[in-house]
Amino acid sequence: MSDVLIVGGGIAGLVAARRLALGGRSVTVLEASDRVGGQLARHMLGGIELDAGAESFATRGGIVADLATRLGLGGEIVPPAPLPAWLHRADGSALALPATSLLGIPSVAVASDVIEAIGTRAALRAALDLVIPAFVGAKAETLGELVRRRMGPAVLEQLVAPIVRGVHSTTPDEVSIDRASPGLRAAFLREGSLTHAVRSLRERSPAGSQVVGIRGGVVRLVDELMADLRRFGVEVRLGARAEEVTPTGVQVAGERLSGEVVVAAPGVAADRVPGRRITLVTLLVDAPELDAAPRGSGVLVAADAPGVQARALTHITAKWPWVAERSGGLHALRLSYDDAPADAVERARADAAQLLGVPLGRLVDADSLTWERAAPRTHAVDGMRFVGEAGSGTGLAAVIGHAEAEADSLLGDEMEPEG
Ligand SMILES: Cc1cc2nc3c(=O)[nH]c(=O)nc-3n(C[C@H](O)[C@H](O)[C@H](O)COP(=O)(O)OP(=O)(O)OC[C@H]3O[C@@H](n4cnc5c(N)ncnc54)[C@H](O)[C@@H]3O)c2cc1C
Repeated sequence: MSDVLIVGGGIAGLVAARRLALGGRSVTVLEASDRVGGQLARHMLGGIELDAGAESFATRGGIVADLATRLGLGGEIVPPAPLPAWLHRADGSALALPATSLLGIPSVAVASDVIEAIGTRAALRAALDLVIPAFVGAKAETLGELVRRRMGPAVLEQLVAPIVRGVHSTTPDEVSIDRASPGLRAAFLREGSLTHAVRSLRERSPAGSQVVGIRGGVVRLVDELMADLRRFGVEVRLGARAEEVTPTGVQVAGERLSGEVVVAAPGVAADRVPGRRITLVTLLVDAPELDAAPRGSGVLVAADAPGVQARALTHITAKWPWVAERSGGLHALRLSYDDAPADAVERARADAAQLLGVPLGRLVDADSLTWERAAPRTHAVDGMRFVGEAGSGTGLAAVIGHAEAEADSLLGDEMEPEG
């Protein structure tokens, strides 16, 4: 008998389990697959261990860094190399994205790199954001509507859309402002213009970097969480798919378990809506032409770019110096695709050569991995606690902060602050 049953051993389930165990609860984690970590995982290419899923986290609020520090990984947090991301445009040309922007929204509309990207006329239209009344766009729900109304269609279509496609695999008109950039709406309402909102959010992120990683991979968070769970006597059952989940118990392989249930599995209560598939192809290549990082940290691809199927490419060894230190001069590239392309590795080689603008050299190793992302939860279940993507939206910062807060609320006054 456990006080608390946690359904799902992804980062959210493990974070909640650790917190509840620290608060004195007896906890069991039920994980359907044969490993913990969920969307945090590692794979090996040419003898180098790399993140196979999430590879970085947002610095906002210091939430993930705070957890990493409590897990003993504080000294291992690393910023990406200060290189620009590039854009592969619909006409096939490539361009470094404006340096001081947030999701492609410029903080100086008439900066030379913005003018180069969208032209003088469109940049002047974007600059109108500073003079049009603050109520314009104040009721916008989607990122697309907000940017279109404040800065015009060119910023939206040529700068913001490719980034939203690369990061969230959707369009700005389909993503809420809060999901695309938590804090942006509040900053806009406070500052009265999108330009000043972006400026204020950028000023708050440490050293200008909005994301950071962990030397050795963000998957190390999972290793350290598991070490703590073992220390605190938490039972973690693998191959334990929870069925018939209620707030007070679950069915696992014919056995009924009772306890207070916390659901940390995105697919539960999702009405069996099919999720989305994302394929990541990682290539390890011997290509000295890439030493100069010809496309900075990577390339985002405009939706209608001809001949390229990938929606984004990350030049991993250029972006993360810790990977370059371990790669012996080889280059690691990661290309992401919606769904699962046929002949994924060959497709990725062709796309990478086109996106990077140089010959790709010899392929040393490759891995293709398709992620099934569960559909978002569609309904509430009376009395049931949801954490992780099922409770807080996507991304490590959102998921970890929410899982800790939910565990604390379940503990009530019993939780002492960790120090
Ligand atoms: C390719 C990729 C790249 C990403 N990159 C980033 C990034 O760079 N930065 C970032 O912040 N975020 C990134 N994300 C998103 C981030 O990884 C996720 O939002 C986060 O890891 C979700 O954690 P979770 O615990 O809520 O869910 P999951 O990690 O999905 O864990 C849920 C767990 O529940 C288990 N489960 C499901 N059903 C049951 C059941 N019935 N019974 C028992 N167990 C069950 C699953 O097997 C899984 O282990 C990325 C995601 C992917 C797929």
